[in-house]
Amino acid sequence: MKQTNVIPMIVEIPMGSSNKYEVDATTGRIVLDRVLYGANFYPGEYGMVENTLDWDGDPLDVIALATYPTMPGVQVNVRILGTIDMIDDGEIDTKLFGVFADDPRFSTFTKLDEVPQHWKDEIENFFLQYKQLQGKTVKIDSWSDEDQAMKELQECYDRFEEYKDRIEAGEKDQIVEEWHKQGLGLGK
Ligand SMILES: [Mg+2]
Repeated sequence: MKQTNVIPMIVEIPMGSSNKYEVDATTGRIVLDRVLYGANFYPGEYGMVENTLDWDGDPLDVIALATYPTMPGVQVNVRILGTIDMIDDGEIDTKLFGVFADDPRFSTFTKLDEVPQHWKDEIENFFLQYKQLQGKTVKIDSWSDEDQAMKELQECYDRFEEYKDRIEAGEKDQIVEEWHKQGLGLGK
């Protein structure tokens, strides 16, 4: 099996959790952003790829299928199979999608279409609903394949390189505002 699509993810939210934790970009601490407003829980291990920057000003998100929950802060190898192309409250907010590379139960999952449809439906349904009680709308354009995912990942690594000094200085909100003024990072 080729290994190029196996990348390290930092888990922020273990599967089954309704607490939305995230790693603070300036302190590195795991912070409770909020408790989900509704009776929803994360249907997979959720986290991010370090040293990346997506259009929402945060590192690129990842959701990965696993058998057992891990813990916030754990680094896990994820085999990336595709992306979920989401627009969150008007902003492009892509999620990489994959499976735990070091769980033998997922060793036969090497392509997006090998993942049972219902699991993908469940993840899509979670993201469509999880901000409903906050009055925010999430739209899902489509799912894309592994090639698109790796392209997206590389773009996010490059963007981080370009902006890392400002991100580390805590200027995330200003950067995103500048992008929006230029028409960048906005959903259709
Ligand atoms: Mg994001």
